[in-house]
Amino acid sequence: MVGAKSINTALRTVNRNLAASPFARSRRRPYTWLIMKIHEYQSRKILSDAGIPVPPAEVVFTPDEAADAFKKFAAPMCVVKAQVYAGGRGKAGFVRKVTSADEARTAAKFMLTTKMVSPQTGPEGMPVSVLLVAPGVDIALRPGRFDHKDNPAGDEYYLGLTIDRARNTITLIASAEGGMEIEEVAKDNPDKILKIPLHPTLGLQAFQAREVAFQLGFKDKMANQVSSLMLTLARIFKESDADLAEINPLVITTDGKLVVLDAKISFDENALFRHKDIEQMRDESQEKPLDVRAKKANLNYIALDGTIGCLVNGAGLAMATMDIIKLHGGEPANFLDVGGGVTAEGATEAFKIILSDPKVKGILVNIFGGIAKCDLIAEALVKSGEEIGFKVPVVVRLEGTNVDKAREILKGAKSKLPTLIAATDLTDAAKKMVAAVA
Ligand code: GDP
Ligand code: MN
Repeated sequence: MVGAKSINTALRTVNRNLAASPFARSRRRPYTWLIMKIHEYQSRKILSDAGIPVPPAEVVFTPDEAADAFKKFAAPMCVVKAQVYAGGRGKAGFVRKVTSADEARTAAKFMLTTKMVSPQTGPEGMPVSVLLVAPGVDIALRPGRFDHKDNPAGDEYYLGLTIDRARNTITLIASAEGGMEIEEVAKDNPDKILKIPLHPTLGLQAFQAREVAFQLGFKDKMANQVSSLMLTLARIFKESDADLAEINPLVITTDGKLVVLDAKISFDENALFRHKDIEQMRDESQEKPLDVRAKKANLNYIALDGTIGCLVNGAGLAMATMDIIKLHGGEPANFLDVGGGVTAEGATEAFKIILSDPKVKGILVNIFGGIAKCDLIAEALVKSGEEIGFKVPVVVRLEGTNVDKAREILKGAKSKLPTLIAATDLTDAAKKMVAAVA
């Protein structure tokens, strides 16, 4: 019933500025919402399958496996990296350089038993259950820089593609000041970040890629390699319906090879039906439990910051409901679209999900009985109320087929469900709801 488009529009309206910057997006919301994330090791595989140079690495799940991986690589230094749906790992201590199997074991143990807290996770942090062990790479300086004194760590480049919602185009973002400080660079030195909007049908064109490579300071053969890497990344972005495809850092090793040290790809949930292989990569342990539950019940659910829970059928109606709540001085606690055919089971699960958010002080039910008839919906509401027990005021606005029968049912349930409040229309519902939570 509800198209992908309307949900996207809804999301954009819910929080326009969230989508505006690839850097701001994940900082605000630690978990996925209609964007499916994958782990670094999975992103690396997608890149390397497409021919992009990614150094070897091993996925491990225990401290002993991390120690074994270190021994296997027989390199003087390895990096142990937490695989987690949030960035800022380096600064949080979840990317560690280790020089012995024992150090690898200790680093792994720390990461597997500590929740990672970074600016992208929120204070509660995120659990880690998968790690990547990769042989360390010696990072060179960019052409024209001769001395490691001004940058002992070596030079790191940023390359990314994302959708610029303000321009409605895919945009290539590139910087010679990549690495862990990229967010600060974006904030303090935005001129150091190149943004190239792509043509809607031609995508990234070879001349654009070459120009960016030169602007980043690459020359000759290396410029060719970097521009072909950009073209491949742009193709991956488009073909996989990505929302973000990012390499940070891209580096040149001291023996002159261009390699990717970290990659992050996320995808548009609404396009996953045509990417079963990507859908399979989902790691539910990294997603918000309520999001996973809502998805299983086929509900379009997005948690917001307010106090009024919304249970609505249809994305457009959900948008209108949130608007009218705000118009009357309230704040919605969620966007929840139960879809066209509301069933008792669906409504019950929706109520349970909304009520498990401790911020919710009341619920506004706004249902239009078209496909599903109002009397059946009213019965479903009463049934779920009896099962869950409405601890907060629940204002119900029903409209459509058999609405009179439905009102009788709600009236009859008043003694069983004392917090149930019937509303005559949407404005009446919003006013009653805002008053009830005030
Ligand atoms: P993030 O902080 O979550 O983006 O994690 P990254 O994988 O990007 O790692 C953070 C930083 O660790 C990078 O910017 C590099 O400076 C450093 N790093 C990662 N892998 C290697 C490596 O193989 N060799 C060296 N020298 N540094 C590395
Ligand atoms: Mn990185």
